Amino acid sequence: MAVNLLDFDLEGLAAFCDSLGEKRFRAVQLFRWIHQRGEADFERMTDLAKSLRGKLAGVAEVKALAMTGEHVSSDGTIKWLFDVGGGNAIEAVYIPEADRGTLCVSSQAGCAVGCRFCSTGHQGFSRNLSTGEIVGQLWFAEHRLRQAGAERVIDNVVMMGMGEPLQNYAALLPALRTMLDDHGYGLSRRRVTVSTSGMTRMIDRLRVDCPVALAVSLHAPNNALRDLLVPLNRKHDIDDLLDTCVRYLDAAPRDFITFEYCMLDGVNDTPELAQELVGLLKGRVPCKLNLIPFNPFPASGLKRSPRERVTAFARVLQEAGIVTTIRKTRGDDIDAACGQLAGEVQDRTNARARLVKRRAVIPIASELGAAR
Ligand code: SAH
Ligand code: SF4
Repeated sequence: MAVNLLDFDLEGLAAFCDSLGEKRFRAVQLFRWIHQRGEADFERMTDLAKSLRGKLAGVAEVKALAMTGEHVSSDGTIKWLFDVGGGNAIEAVYIPEADRGTLCVSSQAGCAVGCRFCSTGHQGFSRNLSTGEIVGQLWFAEHRLRQAGAERVIDNVVMMGMGEPLQNYAALLPALRTMLDDHGYGLSRRRVTVSTSGMTRMIDRLRVDCPVALAVSLHAPNNALRDLLVPLNRKHDIDDLLDTCVRYLDAAPRDFITFEYCMLDGVNDTPELAQELVGLLKGRVPCKLNLIPFNPFPASGLKRSPRERVTAFARVLQEAGIVTTIRKTRGDDIDAACGQLAGEVQDRTNARARLVKRRAVIPIASELGAAR
């Protein structure tokens, strides 16, 4: 079977070329053709030695993702659906802004973490994406958008699509390196963000291997509430998480951690909880808070916090000196907003069943009432 060259970062490609008896500078040329020029056909890589093109034919390929759907929102956001085989489809979202273009990238088909308020979590989990499937989303989006005439389109990548990126670390790492590589996409470390539900040991590894900007999905100021919203909190509790964040800052390209906080009506959005959050974070972790209005999906049984409650919550944090922003919801008319990505997932674990069971045993209102 042909090797997919999108699976390699530059070091990996150099090793592959070495195995073909080719020098490193050939790998650099090839890498640039693939990622900077978006070329998948070796025959069209005209300045590549004919002998190398000959060797590549048959043993290697640049295997793009199969795009099966493109939806354009009234606000310019574009969502693509990619078939990744076995009945699974994943999604990537392009968000144009005045000063930059952001691509929201998926790391898994589904997610096993099972957060209460997340559509991907409700889908269950099928499998990790390969490096080629992660990078392939950027490769596809960048070069498709360039066809429209732009020079360079995406300068910001957020690993905030489907899946928990740090549960797919082995594939994530070469993907991040390709995004950062000057011969690849040349993105700044500050403009590549890994968002995690809080896998502390893996955050420590990322700090050593490839420190990029870090966003941590916090959603609650205490363990009782966070246990219910983000089940992996029972293993990696808030203390452990915040200590890990402080360590991360030693190597991070930014001098703060972004904490994401999804605003759920009547669940985690009271001024008292905002005050508790201040007590938790202030003086402990240099951070910014990003409040995300909950984006509803039918199975959640949850509601978005009213606007006034979100602004009141933000005010408590701001008055305490914590920089707090409210995320603008983009692309919700095409189900492309945070937490709405569902793709299509053949659940091979019992993640979905577990979620449904938890909901059935303890209805949301009393479940969360007990935690406050
Ligand atoms: N698994 C990672 C990254 C993907 S989710 C993580 O959890 O961080 C990206 C962000 O969207 C997270 O902050 C997540 O909590 C948030 N999110 C999930 N479901 C949401 C929803 N329905 N509405 C708003 N934000 C949501
Ligand atoms: Fe997974 Fe993130 Fe969704 Fe939680 S919020 S279920 S970790 S994708």
